[in-house]
Amino acid sequence: MTVDWYIPEFGVIFRVKKKVFEKQTKYQKIEIYETEKFGKVLFIDGAVQSVEKGEESYHEVLVHPALFAHPSPERVLIIGGGEGATLREVLKHPVKEVKMVDIDEEMIKVAKEYLKFDRGAFEDERAELIIGDGLKYVKEEKGKYDVIIVDATDPGATSNPLYTEEFYSICYEKMNQESIFITQGGNCIFLTPEKLIEIYKMMKSVFDKVKIYTFPIVGLVAGWSFISGIKGNIEIEKNFPMREDIKLEYFNPEKQKCLFSLPLFFEKLLYTD
Ligand code: SAM
Repeated sequence: MTVDWYIPEFGVIFRVKKKVFEKQTKYQKIEIYETEKFGKVLFIDGAVQSVEKGEESYHEVLVHPALFAHPSPERVLIIGGGEGATLREVLKHPVKEVKMVDIDEEMIKVAKEYLKFDRGAFEDERAELIIGDGLKYVKEEKGKYDVIIVDATDPGATSNPLYTEEFYSICYEKMNQESIFITQGGNCIFLTPEKLIEIYKMMKSVFDKVKIYTFPIVGLVAGWSFISGIKGNIEIEKNFPMREDIKLEYFNPEKQKCLFSLPLFFEKLLYTD
């Protein structure tokens, strides 16, 4: 068995068949287990990142609310996203160019060899993979984007710079007039609401509008959070028609606005200064 400790008092246990891979890279400890229920499960620094049987639940809901809400997303930037599944979901849309910046080359190699969640996305001619730190990249690169997606590990040594006001301000400058920033919230609304609200407040001081949403994710604790930051007049919290050309298994754009309906206790915390 292996446990993902969300907080010292609470964790989620996986019954494991065997450990498939383990390596401490320059940036993080990567582990892959073959589990009884979910197929292969990727852990980074002891925290579950994604499960083979159901990872689409996380990657679809990270990507598609923004991609459906943007009227014509052409240029997309992904920060993190090591498994290649976020890239795969973005490429379901008729985008022109997607850049993915991940700090850990080893993570990409391991994902390609053992997980294969990208399903060929790394080879798509619209995709470009850059190995480097996300904050450094946005500081130095001059491009502008319609959608920026942060699929980084939860706040911790390597990813901390991606949960700062400095990072959000630079991203805002790199966004076109009407555009969307999305980050996985790195927190559960029930277990660590105060940490999530800290991130929300930083984003609120930068973006024109900020909306938190949650969705049930296979293999993760209930109440996992995502935070959108809007530049311009885009309304992300609306329903959008399902599209024939985009095949989805978990996320339903016709019910998109339900994502933004938060439990009362959390709204009270969020709107109390
Ligand atoms: N689904 C995820 C979760 O639940 O946390 C995130 C998955 S993805 C594997 C996280 C990626 O973020 C890793 O590949 C890691 O290398 C990358 N990462 C962490 N810090 C980063 C940074 N500062 N710049 C770019 N990528 C970073």
